[in-house]
Amino acid sequence: MSKQIAIDGPAGAGKSTIAKKVAKELGFIYVDTGAMYRAMALYMIKEGVGGNEREKIAETCTSADITIKHENGEQIVLLNGENVNGLIRTEEVGNMASAISTIGIVREKLVELQQKLAETTDVVMDGRDIGTVVLPKASLKIYLTASSKVRADRRFKELSAKGVKCNIDEIEKDIIDRDYRDMHRDISPLKQAEDAVLIDSSELTIDEVAEKIISLYKG
Ligand code: C5P
Repeated sequence: MSKQIAIDGPAGAGKSTIAKKVAKELGFIYVDTGAMYRAMALYMIKEGVGGNEREKIAETCTSADITIKHENGEQIVLLNGENVNGLIRTEEVGNMASAISTIGIVREKLVELQQKLAETTDVVMDGRDIGTVVLPKASLKIYLTASSKVRADRRFKELSAKGVKCNIDEIEKDIIDRDYRDMHRDISPLKQAEDAVLIDSSELTIDEVAEKIISLYKG
C-alpha cells in the first residue's frame, strides 16, 4: 500500500507550507486539496454562479474538469486544461470554495480524484476531511491548528508581501466565518480524527512543525 500522511485543520494554520516541506523531505508527493476546491470555486465565479445557488452549483460542477500535476515539487491545478494556480489564492475564491464545498456532488467528484492520487503514490495530503473521509487508513494523521489571531496575522503578512491591500480585522472575521462553515456543514465537516495528533502551531515555526511531523512519522 502507498504511504499516506493526512494533515487537516482550519484556514491559515500553515498546512500547505508544512505539508510541502514534509513531502519534500520524505520524497512523497504533496497534494493540496483546498486548491481543488478553489479551482472549482473559480469555475463557478467565471460561470456567474452564486455561492447560494446550490442546484446550479451541483449542475455546473459536472462540466469542470479538475486535475493536478507536479512540476519541481510544486502542485499545479488544471481547470479544464488551464493552469489556474495564479488565480485561486484570493479571499473571494477562498470564501466561494467554502460555500461550494458544502455540496455533496462537488465533494464526491474531488474526493474520488484525491483517493485515486493516493492509491498509487506516497502522499502528504492536506485539507479538512483527509484523516476522517479521504484517507481514513493514513499512516499518520495530523490536526494542525493555531489561534485565529495568529492565523489572521500570517495571512495579512502573506497578502501584504504580495502588495495586496487588506485589513487584518476583516481577515480574522473571514477566517472565523470560514472555520464556522467548515466545522458545521452536514457533509464531511472539519474535525479532528480520533486517531489524529493535535499540533498547535501558534508558538512554533514552520521548521519546528515539519520536524515534529517527520519524527512522528518515522516513529
Ligand atoms: O485550504 P484552503 O483554504 O485552500 O481551502 C479552501 C476551502 O475549501 C476551505 O475553506 C474548505 O471549505 C474547502 N475544503 C474542503 N475540504 C478539503 C479542502 C478544502 O472542504 N479537503
